[in-house]
Amino acid sequence: MIHLKSREEIEMMRESALVVSRTLGEVAKMIRPGVTPLELDKRADEYIRDQGAIPGFLGLYDFPNTLCTSVNEMVVHGIPNNRPLEEGDIISVDCGAILNGFYGDHAYTFEVGEVAAETRRLLKVTKECLYIGIEQMIPGNRLGDLGWAIQHHAEKHGYGVVRELVGHGIGREMHEEPQVPNYGRRGRGKKMENGLVLAVEPMINMGTHRVRQLKDGWSIITGDKKPSAHFEHDIAIWDGKPMILSTFDYIYDALGLDITDPASLSS
Ligand code: MG
Ligand code: MG
Repeated sequence: MIHLKSREEIEMMRESALVVSRTLGEVAKMIRPGVTPLELDKRADEYIRDQGAIPGFLGLYDFPNTLCTSVNEMVVHGIPNNRPLEEGDIISVDCGAILNGFYGDHAYTFEVGEVAAETRRLLKVTKECLYIGIEQMIPGNRLGDLGWAIQHHAEKHGYGVVRELVGHGIGREMHEEPQVPNYGRRGRGKKMENGLVLAVEPMINMGTHRVRQLKDGWSIITGDKKPSAHFEHDIAIWDGKPMILSTFDYIYDALGLDITDPASLSS
């Protein structure tokens, strides 16, 4: 069952999303060769609690940490470890938090030092996929329109769209209905309407779309060991258009990038 949210609930969810946004901004300040994913995890855990919130991933389905940190060919669900990041790595940092009973959940893939041009292009296109998907969040459009738009953009660049993992509804639960695939057929799937809140999260591989899970029971890696990128926002549909509740602005500030995240998009 899909839980549509009221305007008041959406405003509460914005607060939860901003806890995560600020936390990823704090993580962004630490990204450099030599830092370990476990150090990022520790800082994120403290910073979420400092804001009066609770880490959303820790203990969820028995996940052992506050962040999912997925380096290079790892797609998502990486468990933070002690291996220092190296120049040229990319790391997807996915973070969740609970504030006033509502979850926030979003993710950003960072470059560590100087990254290969073809990898930077993968990150750029994956982020474009996120916003192209969000643009489809108009009442009357269907989830297949959103998935198709993401898939079309990724495949145009020769990239693989992960099938096994999808975006989701979000609210008082981290994962609510509906599932939000990053692939699909136009005009198919559930109709979107005002009050729908989704976590849209394209997972795009440089090579094959195929993935496999490591023996730790969590980490998902690409079938060909080529890199994978992941960006995620929480978005509500309100007043007939998408309203992005999370923001990358804290990350852009930390990285010194002159970009502003759009708060809303309309067709
Ligand atoms: Mg996430
Ligand atoms: Mg998610």
